[in-house]
Amino acid sequence: MKEVLLCKYGELILKGANRSYFEGLLMKELKARVRRAGDFDIHRAQSTIYIEPLNDDCDLDLALEYAKKVFGIVTINRACVVEKNIEAIYQAAKEYLPQFMKGVRTFKADARRADKRFPMKSPELAGEIGAAVLEAMPNLKVDLYDPDIVVRVEIREQGAYIHAGQFKGAGGMPLGSSGKGLLLLSGGIDSPVSGFMMAKRGVTLEALHFESFPYTSERAKEKVLELARILCEYSTRIKVHVISLTHIQEELRDHCDEDYFTLLLRRYMMTLAERVARRNKCGAIITGESLAQVASQTMRAIAVTDSVVNMPVYRPCIGLDKEEIIDIARRIGTFETSILPYEDCCTVFTPRHPRTRPEPEKVIAEENKLDFKALCDEAFETLNTYDIRIDED
Ligand code: ATP
Ligand code: MG
Repeated sequence: MKEVLLCKYGELILKGANRSYFEGLLMKELKARVRRAGDFDIHRAQSTIYIEPLNDDCDLDLALEYAKKVFGIVTINRACVVEKNIEAIYQAAKEYLPQFMKGVRTFKADARRADKRFPMKSPELAGEIGAAVLEAMPNLKVDLYDPDIVVRVEIREQGAYIHAGQFKGAGGMPLGSSGKGLLLLSGGIDSPVSGFMMAKRGVTLEALHFESFPYTSERAKEKVLELARILCEYSTRIKVHVISLTHIQEELRDHCDEDYFTLLLRRYMMTLAERVARRNKCGAIITGESLAQVASQTMRAIAVTDSVVNMPVYRPCIGLDKEEIIDIARRIGTFETSILPYEDCCTVFTPRHPRTRPEPEKVIAEENKLDFKALCDEAFETLNTYDIRIDED
């Protein structure tokens, strides 16, 4: 029996002139992700994207797992396709549906007729499906109001599609529909989660990581590239830019008040981030900051770092507790990598008494002890880019 996946997107996307643009973005993402599960024909018709295996080597279970991570898709049906005649439909419902109905006690049968030329009306057709299910599983009860599962036949252009229940898609907006953002990616728990959250709203990700070799190791960088690889499950291809802060940090250590290290460093980071973002046509910077989590994330401290940037900074974790962020990190698969114990540049020369309520004038005075622009220019020269893709081996 031929099986396919039917991906359905939300009302949001269906509306307005952007519809075919959104659909195009969805198709592009699906193709890039599902390709790893075999040769599939992916096409759209009647507000549905069809994923159809082209040969026996296709792994439909895997394709389903990949499709579940494509933002913009709301539900996915795994269905069998048969000819549009009632005998074939009845037979298929009887044979195909029971495997999805283990442990189910009540069901409702439903029919949708996108192809109105089909001679039988929907209620009648639903009755046939219901009868087929009951013939295969006589102990089931029909419950029209609160069923454990809904079984359905959809009469479409290319055939009759029969399925039981549905899988929840990733929701959100199609990747790319909200432009591109530069994610400041550390090796920690919060920044990958922030990247995921913005990708969910349609932002294609590019990333920037700061290292501080030899104070931070090659393994720390590898860990960040691995996090980017995991994020590629949601944002197919991520360019990761790496900039060395070693010299800036040494200069700060040698010339500035220790209590201000972190804040000063963060102003360098944000300035460099804006430069990378503009070069690469990113419309916003994304960070993993969460209010009051550490000294550099108080309202005052964030104001001081923010004031060097002239582009929007998205901080989707700002109102989340650590526990909530960890829950998301586990769900998206970054947590185990994030907790590997490698050093981050922010933990190099950490002040013993970081300022939580910095005076902007004092920050500026400390900053002016160094040639800010020259150090930024020099750091920018160290930029290296890694092209991380979902299908690289
Ligand atoms: P995370 O868990 O994301 O590392 P954190 O709670 O450790 O966050 P900080 O170290 O203060 O917080 O960093 C705040 C944010 O600054 C991070 O979420 C990240 O977006 C950015 N950041 C910190 N260190 C780096 C780095 N080495 N490279 C790139 N961005 C960084
Ligand atoms: Mg960190």
